[in-house]
Amino acid sequence: MQTLYPEPSLSLNTNQMNGKIIILSAPSGTGKSTIISRIIDNQELRLGFSISATSRAPRGEEQDGREYYFISNEDFHRRVERGDFVEWEEVYPGTCYGTLRSEVERVTSGGRNLIMDIDVRGGLNVKRCYGDEALSIFILPPSLETLERRLRGRATDPEERIRKRLAKAEYELGFADSYDCQVVNDDLDRAVSEVAALIKDFLTD
Ligand code: ADP
Ligand code: 5GP
Repeated sequence: MQTLYPEPSLSLNTNQMNGKIIILSAPSGTGKSTIISRIIDNQELRLGFSISATSRAPRGEEQDGREYYFISNEDFHRRVERGDFVEWEEVYPGTCYGTLRSEVERVTSGGRNLIMDIDVRGGLNVKRCYGDEALSIFILPPSLETLERRLRGRATDPEERIRKRLAKAEYELGFADSYDCQVVNDDLDRAVSEVAALIKDFLTD
């Protein structure tokens, strides 16, 4: 069993929440974004995507304010100091990602349920804070070979970054059992249906 490092970066106020929290975590390349894009418009689930801030550059067709808020490293750390983040992590050396307080308010103020695409450590920390108000789902790749194929097939990362992501994946998979539920993303349609069903059950409990 692997252990988590202490998390100095987490700060949440659960009193002001309206909707619930859905956490989706998985090693990069497993298919979180693809699954989220397929369920985000499911009206029954009333979901709103949590647009994270990141210090990495946009890749492919990504647009500022749609997939992420793309900000510089300096700006990221200035905002950390200002207390703008609910949580943040240096997910890869020198590259930070975080959930802005303003984003949680934007989504939940209208009673929407916040769906977060967040790294494994961040996801466990958010779950620990929100408890029964949050559902944590771990998406598993069918195998590490398939994960590598997907990362290469996505064709958005240079070789060095693919290597880093694969090395991290093995570590991250060790935390799958600490999530409320696990879904294997083999057949995409089936994975999307399973995730939607889990969220629906959680919201109607
Ligand atoms: P993540 O958000 O977890 O980093 P993505 O959603 O970007 O992963 O998916 C990585 C790549 O794998 C993309 O090219 C996507 O089209 C592809 N992909 C996702 N799910 C499946 C699946 N079930 N079968 C085959 N390819 C998939
Ligand atoms: P990518 O660069 O592939 O978009 O994302 C890399 C990793 O950062 C993924 O595991 C993704 O889930 C994670 N991530 C994205 N946003 C956040 C966030 O706000 N907080 C944390 N802790 N991780 C995030």
